[in-house]
Amino acid sequence: MQFKENQQDGLTKVAEKYTVRTTPHLDEIMHHPAIARQYLPDTRELDYQPDEDGDPIGDKAHTPVKGIVHRYPDRLLLKPYHACAVYCRFCFRRDMVGRQGEHLKEDELQTALDYIRQHTEVWEVILTGGDPFALSIRRLKEILSVLDDIDHVKMIRIHTRVPVAAPDLVTTDLCAALAELNTVVTVSVHCNHAAEITDAAAQALKKLHGAGAMLISQSVLLKNVNDNSAALENLFRKLAENRVKPYYLHHPDKARGTAHFRMTLEDGLALYKNLRGHLSGVCIPHYMLDIPGGYGKVALDSTKVSLKENHAEIMDHNGVVHIYKD
Ligand SMILES: *Cc1c(COP(=O)(O)O)cnc(C)c1O
Ligand code: SF4
Repeated sequence: MQFKENQQDGLTKVAEKYTVRTTPHLDEIMHHPAIARQYLPDTRELDYQPDEDGDPIGDKAHTPVKGIVHRYPDRLLLKPYHACAVYCRFCFRRDMVGRQGEHLKEDELQTALDYIRQHTEVWEVILTGGDPFALSIRRLKEILSVLDDIDHVKMIRIHTRVPVAAPDLVTTDLCAALAELNTVVTVSVHCNHAAEITDAAAQALKKLHGAGAMLISQSVLLKNVNDNSAALENLFRKLAENRVKPYYLHHPDKARGTAHFRMTLEDGLALYKNLRGHLSGVCIPHYMLDIPGGYGKVALDSTKVSLKENHAEIMDHNGVVHIYKD
């Protein structure tokens, strides 16, 4: 990657702080501004806002053992791996993934799996990280097979950017490993722009679907990437055309150095509400905010959210109201 010389110092600092990585597949579409903005470092990443945090959605507050985030009774996150195939500049876990991240050691992974075995209320395990599809196939198969053998776990969800960022990692071996599980597998694909769904990405999605996985998406509403009706409509249509049910459109979390990606809740809501008349309901995701501090997710287009003059009042799933400022 080449940058203007006067920016180089700042960019070196950014890259020292937050890992930079793309793939040959992405480099082919990097000429598209909506792709470049998601992956190429920007000196604004060094501008931290006072309300930004290294743990913006409060993972730590709900971590009973290392590698587990258990916030809702029936489902939890298992984070076996800190690395991703690529690094998104707006990543909500940017202080925990990449070089900053910690790989679970063997005994820590066993402790995390024991926690799941012991908690019979856990119906769904969500593998996230890092990117579970960036794990070696051997390691991934070991983890999947343990989960498959736990009776009360009825659903394995895998959060990944690999199908659209490194589609060649969706191998026949990987699909075979998913297909042989008895437990239902949901693959939640992180994708923010229609241009990410190249022919290679479409093939990867088709293979995952062929392996019997239910495909859903997670997108992030990003300033200068997909912050207009046409971009969102094209994205959600193209996902559905590729067998992916748009699931969540996330308002960006207040991760450090990401303010240049965030629009206001008011503007986000106006954009979101406008989708209904233009798109098949099958293509419409929920627009979600993870309430800062670990209070869980809330659908922004709901009675739990009221916009005031300078802030929003947001009620969490326990009925507690939180103040949110853009
Ligand atoms: C987002 C999240 C989930 C999954 O929530 P769904 O609404 O089921 O998609 C589960 N646990 C934690 C800690 C989360 O942040
Ligand atoms: S793939 Fe996910 S975890 Fe990895 S850098 Fe992107 S947003 Fe963060």
